[in-house]
Amino acid sequence: MKVLVINAGSSSVKYQLYQMPEADVIAKGLVERIGEEGASLTQTSSGKKHEIAQPIADHEQAMDIILAALVNKDYGVISDVSEIASVGHRVVHGGDEFSGSMIIDDKVVASIEKFADLAPLHNPPNLTGIRAAQHGLPNAKQVACFDTSFHATIPEVAYMYALPYELYEEYRIRRYGFHGTSHRYVARKCTEVMGVGKYDANVITCHLGNGCSMTAVKNGKSVDTSMGLTPLEGLVMGTRSGDFDPAILFYLTDKGYSIKDLNTLCNKKSGLLGISGESNDMRNLSELAAKGDKKAQLAIDIFAYRVKKYIGTYTAVLGTLDAVVFTGGIGENAVELRAQICSDQKQIGIEIDADVNAKTRGLGCVSTEASRVKVYVIPTDEEFAIAADTYELTK
Ligand code: AMP
Repeated sequence: MKVLVINAGSSSVKYQLYQMPEADVIAKGLVERIGEEGASLTQTSSGKKHEIAQPIADHEQAMDIILAALVNKDYGVISDVSEIASVGHRVVHGGDEFSGSMIIDDKVVASIEKFADLAPLHNPPNLTGIRAAQHGLPNAKQVACFDTSFHATIPEVAYMYALPYELYEEYRIRRYGFHGTSHRYVARKCTEVMGVGKYDANVITCHLGNGCSMTAVKNGKSVDTSMGLTPLEGLVMGTRSGDFDPAILFYLTDKGYSIKDLNTLCNKKSGLLGISGESNDMRNLSELAAKGDKKAQLAIDIFAYRVKKYIGTYTAVLGTLDAVVFTGGIGENAVELRAQICSDQKQIGIEIDADVNAKTRGLGCVSTEASRVKVYVIPTDEEFAIAADTYELTK
């Protein structure tokens, strides 16, 4: 059975075609700069890359071009689009209405629309992608996989903010959490690697990429996570601030900042970029820090310190901790940062093997034999998780 996975952004669509249940990736690609100059599609299949540059007006046209690429006589991988049985869509915000992936119907679409005001940069393009796929593949089943749904098990005590209760009743202001597909995938994979049942371990998962979040996973279920109502809360990220005193916003308002300025400040100009004044990219910062750039070093140090602080917090939340998992571009590759985060944590039971850690950039265990808490690097695979959910719901 062939399953197409779609991740639609405001001006891009990422896609992967899977043969399920074997989980073979038959083709993958990216349409970029939709509605802009220089639009293109890049598709990789059988190890070969093909690029098509042409104007692409909207997501519907992007979907037509993706389907045409998949059936192309020279570099396509299927002979007819009817071979695609179902489509799995990444959807960022499902609010508190979904505890798992869902076959898309009018009710699901209405909910994605409803939560668009909480994820204005993500839900509208996700929905545009769904509509384009419904149009291009009218006979395929469509499935929504929400970034929020893994966190549906977080208890009230962890998801409520200490704000007037009416705000929750009236506006549903609460912690939702994101990156759920990634946290669930790596937490499950961790139990597989440990050789225990998927509900038999307490794990802290650290998704450290351009966006960063951590989750406390107790017996296979998310019980707390660092992102909140929106993906702004929690860790230091590429351009997002993560946690800070909200009174800073009132102070800056008094100094003349508008709501729009503050939104841009917190989401686009803060985090690694804001502290370093140079880059939101950890690789660039490591290079700058190695050359003696103090602000780049400070940005890295604050980033690592915040992750360490959350490990402590979530260890307390979980009561007992079996493993810590690092994933995402930074979590999987930034070996020195991992060592920095895991330093001086013997009290918690974390002891990293410096040599093994320095060599590990893919799947591996980087803690010492003696370490009570195991530390794993597990490459995330959100597309596979979406394909697997879509297959399960539609097979
Ligand atoms: P992601 O959003 O998961 O693709 O992660 C992007 C982040 O991973 C960026 O900050 C990159 O600089 C970082 N990253 C990727 N490769 C490396 C590497 N080899 N060392 C340090 N950071 C890396």
